[in-house]
Amino acid sequence: MHLVADAGLFLRPVVYLRQEIKMRSSLIGKIEKAKRYAQERDRVTFSGFTAVFRGENDSHKISYANKKWHCTCNFFSQWEICSHTMALQQILGDMLPREALASPMETQPAEK
Ligand SMILES: [Zn+2]
Repeated sequence: MHLVADAGLFLRPVVYLRQEIKMRSSLIGKIEKAKRYAQERDRVTFSGFTAVFRGENDSHKISYANKKWHCTCNFFSQWEICSHTMALQQILGDMLPREALASPMETQPAEK
């Protein structure tokens, strides 16, 4: 009687240990995959986001949503583009959808 109870106490942690080893090895696999993915930025395309941009004089809230940029700076309210959105275009590069990379100057029809 005593022996069976002791065996149960002994075996239970072994089962948990095996599960933990299994979980850890699959987590290690995921970490390796994540490292590889992180090198392949073209796998990621932002469909929208918000960010705070610390400018030289002030911080500005930038957002990209519904295929449109927005920035709280004064320049953006007049031109619908600013140094902050352009900087983010450069930082995020290929991770932005094509329409997010187009500048207003490029999308305007050419003068004839
Ligand atoms: Zn701005």
